[in-house]
Amino acid sequence: MRTPVIAGNWKLFKTAPEAIGLVTGLVPLIAGKSGVEVVIAPVFTVLDRVRSAIAGSGIHLAAQDCFWEEEGAFTGEVSPKMLIDAGCTHVIIGHSERRQYFGETDATVNRKIHAAGVAGLTVLFCVGETLEERESGNTFNVLRTQIAGGLAGVGTAAMERVIVAYEPVWAIGTGRTASDEQAQEAHAFIRSELHSLYGPATAAATRILYGGSVKPENIGGLIAQNDIDGALVGGASLKAESFAVLVNAA
Ligand code: PEP
Repeated sequence: MRTPVIAGNWKLFKTAPEAIGLVTGLVPLIAGKSGVEVVIAPVFTVLDRVRSAIAGSGIHLAAQDCFWEEEGAFTGEVSPKMLIDAGCTHVIIGHSERRQYFGETDATVNRKIHAAGVAGLTVLFCVGETLEERESGNTFNVLRTQIAGGLAGVGTAAMERVIVAYEPVWAIGTGRTASDEQAQEAHAFIRSELHSLYGPATAAATRILYGGSVKPENIGGLIAQNDIDGALVGGASLKAESFAVLVNAA
């Protein structure tokens, strides 16, 4: 019922020639694969060129962030409308690196989710606890707060264009993956929160991705979990071969 999603977050990597090289290698490796939504999120400056390189491949283009205003005196920002203009259908919002290094809060994440939804983008909404929060027994409290804050005022209809990504901060870029059981437990909790906020239909329909050192060696166990609907992938999305294995496993 829920189409799995494999999304690659390229972070601050890949110049234009490198980006084109990556997608040129990726496209034939996943050609013919159906039943999975493939998304890649390059840096802003190469979006337009990657758009041309993936034309006709079925791969969706995402940005790694957006601002909430459509236009104006906001130096350095990029609006949802501009992302659509550059060929994006998706946008990552609330990634832990943005929360950690760039002052994102649940309130700013919420404004961005609203603006992206109004513009017609599908949002990859990231939540996740730090190691300290997990070890102090606060994982579920953190997730509840991030979900309630990030989705405040987001209605049931708008949720059709929201994908939640559970990304434990301690597993991102560390090589340390949550166990299949830890991930499933968090995903089931997130789905139960969606049930409380939106009811059974939205809870059952919303895709919840796992992110945090996903690689070819661990995708099988994660994707087999009942509430894991795919992956948001950093490091392993930077090579065509490893990303293609993840896509083909979904
Ligand atoms: C990410 O950037 O969202 C991520 C999960 O990174 P990595 O796969 O490298 O841990």
